[in-house]
Amino acid sequence: MINVADSFVGHVLNIYLAKATDGEVLNTKVASGGAVTAILNYALDEGLIDGVVTAKRTNGLEGNAVVARSRKELLATVGNKWSIVPFASRIKTKIEENNLNQVAVVCLPCQAQFFGQMRDFPMLETDFGERIEYIISLFCMGTFAFETFINYLHMNHGIKGRDVRDIVLRGDVIEVHHPRGVLRLSIREIYRYLQVGCLVCTDYTGSWSDISAGVVETKPGWTILIARNKKADELIKNAKKRGYIEVRDGYPFIGDVITGAREKLARSQKNMMCLF
Ligand code: SF4
Repeated sequence: MINVADSFVGHVLNIYLAKATDGEVLNTKVASGGAVTAILNYALDEGLIDGVVTAKRTNGLEGNAVVARSRKELLATVGNKWSIVPFASRIKTKIEENNLNQVAVVCLPCQAQFFGQMRDFPMLETDFGERIEYIISLFCMGTFAFETFINYLHMNHGIKGRDVRDIVLRGDVIEVHHPRGVLRLSIREIYRYLQVGCLVCTDYTGSWSDISAGVVETKPGWTILIARNKKADELIKNAKKRGYIEVRDGYPFIGDVITGAREKLARSQKNMMCLF
């Protein structure tokens, strides 16, 4: 077990490299190995959860909170989340509308903190924390200030927001896929279009989650999974046992995750000094 204070990535029980075994999952524009989709698919099939609440890109960079109750619906939600979807405010309605009692939430670290605190330390006005079975957080370096980034793409590159088909992170380069091709931008060049809150955010992996998931440059095509508690660890191990994912030891790659976490923390500290 890695000590919280030493790791920059929160509490760690186990670290895995994982990949979906389902060819369709792997081919559905997954940024990593599709392990999160495969694990959630396993949880739905086994009846461990009755729905997954996640963000789905709807139009260009815009997104919405959606509920997936089947493999087909899950596949429709796959992809990077580059604009933050304010679904924390909508999740209660979604859960009630869909009559869900055990949900998995796939979210960003800031949202994982909200859901985690609400579940573990419920307050009177929140009454759906007990319905959250798993919190899965995606690694996050920031989301775009929507209007500003769309304006930048239009003014500098002639790309309209509604024409953005996909955004893919490859190392230090962000690819913006649009009808005329692929625009490649240095991630450092576009940091200035991130939301201000992201520039001072310190959590890279989502330390309030049950499972954190992301990619590391040194192992493309694989998802790195951090299991933070026994329940999460069992979910991953059972998904492997039932053949939904292929799993390898992820410990050799924790250094890459810590590098990302340290970079985000340093960025936050630098920006805080400018703000105050
Ligand atoms: S950088 Fe932080 S605040 Fe911004 S979307 Fe990611 S987790 Fe949320």
